[in-house]
Amino acid sequence: MEFGLGTKCVQAGYTPKSGEPRVLPIIQSTTFKYETSEAMGKLFDLQESGYFYTRLANPTSDCVAAKLCALEGGSAAMLLSSGQAASFFSVFNLASAGDHVVSSATIYGGTYNLFAVTMKRMGIDFTFVDPDCTVAELAAAMRPNTKAVFGETIANPALAVLDIEKFARVAHAHGVPLIVDNTFATPVNCRPIEWGADIVTHSTTKYLDGHATSVGGAIVDGGHFDWMAHADKFPGLTTPDESYHGIVYAEQFGIGGAYINKCVAQLMRDFGSTPSAFNAFLLNLGMETLHVRMPKHCANAQAVAEFLQGHEKVAWVQYCGLPGDKYYELGKKYLPNGSCGVLSFGVKGGRAAAEKFMKNLKLAAIVTHVADARTCILHPASSTHRQMSDEELLACGVAPDLMRLSVGIEDAADIISDISAALEKI
Ligand code: PLP
Repeated sequence: MEFGLGTKCVQAGYTPKSGEPRVLPIIQSTTFKYETSEAMGKLFDLQESGYFYTRLANPTSDCVAAKLCALEGGSAAMLLSSGQAASFFSVFNLASAGDHVVSSATIYGGTYNLFAVTMKRMGIDFTFVDPDCTVAELAAAMRPNTKAVFGETIANPALAVLDIEKFARVAHAHGVPLIVDNTFATPVNCRPIEWGADIVTHSTTKYLDGHATSVGGAIVDGGHFDWMAHADKFPGLTTPDESYHGIVYAEQFGIGGAYINKCVAQLMRDFGSTPSAFNAFLLNLGMETLHVRMPKHCANAQAVAEFLQGHEKVAWVQYCGLPGDKYYELGKKYLPNGSCGVLSFGVKGGRAAAEKFMKNLKLAAIVTHVADARTCILHPASSTHRQMSDEELLACGVAPDLMRLSVGIEDAADIISDISAALEKI
C-alpha cells in the first residue's frame, strides 16, 4: 500500500521490528564488526550491501535518505554533510574535466560560485541561461560535451519558478539528465521527478530540518534516466571503474541504483562529505513535521506578501502566490498547494532605507539563513552575494535592494505587525 505524503513524512525510512526502538536510533559508530574478512570483502566489492565504515554509509543516515527518497518518489538517495556537497557531487558524478553543464542562472549564490569558479577551475565549463529562455535558446546552450542541466525549483533568492518540463524536455532531447535543487519547494509542495527531472538535490539545512539545527544535503535519483542508452556520454557509469575492482555501475545496480551507488562508492569515498548520524537523526525529526509546517509557512508568507504589496513604503514584492507575479502561472502549475515561506521585496529609498528597515525589526532576525521555523531576513547584496558585481547580481535575478524575508510559522499577525512597525520608522 502506497501511503500519503504526510504518513511518509512521519514514518517512511524506518520500520522497527518487534522489540526494536520505536524511534530511529542514532548509530554513533564509525565502524561495523564482521565475523570474517570474506564477509567484509563482499561489502568492499559492492557484491553485498551492508555497513563497514561511516564515511561511506551509516544506518541512521540511510534511513533518513530512504524517507526523502520515498517523499521525492525516487529510486535511491544519499545524505551529505551540506547542500553545497550535494550540488557538487550531483554534477561531478556525471561531468569531469573537459565536460560542460548548462545551468539556470538564477541559482543560489553559493552554487553559482561552486559552478562558475571552483568547478570551472577543475576543467568543467558551465553555461548559465535565463530560466525564462525559450526552448530554442536553451537548446542552443547545449554542446556535444554537455553532461547535465541544472536548475532550482524555486530559485534562492530570485524566487524564479523553474519550468521543469521545459528544462527536462531539452535535456532529454540532448541525451542528458536534468538535476533540480528542490530545497525551497520541498517534496511537500513539488516533486520534480514527477515533472521529468532525473535527479533531485537538497540543502536539508532548510525546510527539511526546519529548525536550523543541522547543515546537511541530499541527492535523490529518480531512477528513470537510462545511462546505457547514452553510454558514450557517461563512461563513468557504463564502463569499468578500475578504482572499484572494475565494477560497471549501470550493469551492477541498473537504472535505479547506478547513479547513487557510484556517487557513494567514488565521491563519498574520496571526498568524505559525510553527515554525522546525530545530524541525520535531527533531520529526521524535522522531516516528521514537514507536511504540517509547509502549509503554515505558505499561508503566513501569502498574508505577509499581500500586506507588503498594499503598503505605500514598499517598492515591489515578489512572491509567486501573488496574482500578477511573474511566476504566478508557473507557480499554479508546479506548486498548486503553495510555494514556500520565502518572499523578496524592496522598500522605497533603496539600499539605505532597506538597512534602516531591517535595523528596526524586532521579531524577524537578521541571519544568514532561510527556511526555518523562525522568521528571518537577509540583504543578499551585502551578505551571501557580496562577491558578485551589480551586473552579476542582476543577471541572476537579485536586485541590489532586494531583501529576502523567510516567513516562519509564528502567528501571521505578529509577523505583520513587526514589519509594519519597522516600515513606519523609515
Ligand atoms: N541550494 C540552495 C537552494 C540553498 O539555498 C543553499 C543554501 O542556502 C544551498 C543549496 C547550499 O546548502 P548548504 O548551506 O546546506 O551547504
